Amino acid sequence: MLKHDTLRNVLYINLSKKSFQIKDRSDLFEKYIGGAGVASQLLLEECPEGIDPYGPDNPIIMAVGPLTSLYPLASKTVAMFKSPLTGNLGESHAGGRSAVSIRMSGYGAIVIQGASERPCYLSIQGSKVFFRDASSLWGMGKSATVGKIIRANEPSSGLRTIMRIGRAGEKMIPYACVTTETYRHFGRLGLGAVFGSKKLKALVVSGKRSIPVADQKQYKDLYESIFKNATESPVMKKYHEIGTPVNVIPLNEMNGLPTRNLQATQFEHAQTISGEEIAKNYLGKRLACSHCPVACIHIAAIREPYEDEPFFYKTSMICYDYELIYAVGSMLGGSHVPGMMKLIDSIEAYGLDCMSAGVALAWATEAFEKGLITEMHTDGVRLVWGDYAGYQEALARIIEQPNEFYQALAKGTDFASSIYGGQDFAMTFGKNEMPGYHTGPAAHIGYLAGARHSHLDGAGYGIDKKIAANKSITAESVASELLAEERWRQILSSLVICFFARELYKPDVIIEALKLSGFEYTEESLRKLGEEIHTAKFRFKMREGFSFSNLRIPGRIYETPCTAGMVDEKFVRTALETIRKDVEAKIYDCS
Ligand code: SF4
Repeated sequence: MLKHDTLRNVLYINLSKKSFQIKDRSDLFEKYIGGAGVASQLLLEECPEGIDPYGPDNPIIMAVGPLTSLYPLASKTVAMFKSPLTGNLGESHAGGRSAVSIRMSGYGAIVIQGASERPCYLSIQGSKVFFRDASSLWGMGKSATVGKIIRANEPSSGLRTIMRIGRAGEKMIPYACVTTETYRHFGRLGLGAVFGSKKLKALVVSGKRSIPVADQKQYKDLYESIFKNATESPVMKKYHEIGTPVNVIPLNEMNGLPTRNLQATQFEHAQTISGEEIAKNYLGKRLACSHCPVACIHIAAIREPYEDEPFFYKTSMICYDYELIYAVGSMLGGSHVPGMMKLIDSIEAYGLDCMSAGVALAWATEAFEKGLITEMHTDGVRLVWGDYAGYQEALARIIEQPNEFYQALAKGTDFASSIYGGQDFAMTFGKNEMPGYHTGPAAHIGYLAGARHSHLDGAGYGIDKKIAANKSITAESVASELLAEERWRQILSSLVICFFARELYKPDVIIEALKLSGFEYTEESLRKLGEEIHTAKFRFKMREGFSFSNLRIPGRIYETPCTAGMVDEKFVRTALETIRKDVEAKIYDCS
């Protein structure tokens, strides 16, 4: 690492004591680069074994990497914590201005420990940390309003990020998210609930430091080449123009779009909820995370008349992605775009993870249809596919929790189905609600065996396309491909690069960029490190009770046709066993 690089600084904040200190942790950054690599070590250091995820001992760790603020699309922050949803590794990535602000404020990582007695928010301004009272913000309806108030009250020098929770986080719903810059989220695995358990309403970080590089001329050349590749790449062009919802039509055509709680993989209204159609009729603007020339963030402008003034309209600006359209569109059998957008808007206002909320409502709808639950459970709400008025009512009750059914649903799909039945169609993997791809066995093996139980761990949907074309691919080779991809992604997550740019950041580019920041790596040493970080994450997971043998696999995945045909149970179990042996051998080797 270069001598004057402040990446080495870790800011430790204790909310119980209202104190903070800055430590030089060159030891961690030299060895694990940053991002996921450093955060997983800090998690092992700071999170005592077996703690309550809602207790004060659960640390919130946020980390960035050496390329943050220097190169295009190195725009993400990694958050790590013990997940209240799964009970083991909580890891979530977000962009917005979060990464650049943390790096420019002079830190490679921030660790938040303890819990405040009263609602508070933290304002980190370079080397100063202020503990602000947030009593008047607690319980506020919209997280966007919270952002507005904080924006007006905090100094704005330098780059600034405002991360905050909504009512779902305050109520410690285990799939509550943290919103940053209104339209980006630490969405998955319940970081919002951990904020809520600490009475931490928001985290503001601002700074204006500069970042050193070893050679200005080489840096400029490398920057320009990455920038050129990013702006000329056809994939990036596609994400800029239509956004990730460009995937709705192809997934539907290839039998991969989960529909009505995965009872089908082709949705008759896919065209209506496609990225192309929404862009044509509703696109209001595009936005980008800091330091990203792609701008894949798409915002719909939804216009509706005021009830008492029919010729006066209010316009809501609502962010949509593929995963959101899948979760509250096809998964709920809904095709009324304004209704779908307003449900996304409500989920956003409450501060819930949209994927988990959509999958929970999808399970509840099928459970209602099958008579496992009735209007007595739903407090009179009729859950019917595609009926957004009913979904709005159910969503409000997930927050308010007026009865035992909603208390259970607020704990997640896995928990609710363990009480009310329907586990075969409770679409969770490792207790995390499923992403929007039913492309074949590799996708599901990836959700089950990935450290985050996410489609972003090993990208199994890409492997499924190969399985669809070549049926002789073995379960063992799928297992080893998923593991190799997930281990390489630990390097991207340590830098921390947006995964959309993974084709731009090939090993040679990463090695050169790291060299200009004072890190010496070869492709071999990077791959070895990726493996080590992956193992560290599983060491934490297993320490906290994760076990491959206890994974519940929803039977529905074997019943619904997918891109690769039908998913074969034996294939899935063989691949899982191969991954288990590999992961456990590495943990055993290192201990
Ligand atoms: S491609 Fe999209 S998500 Fe990735 S950094 Fe750019 S704007 Fe953010």
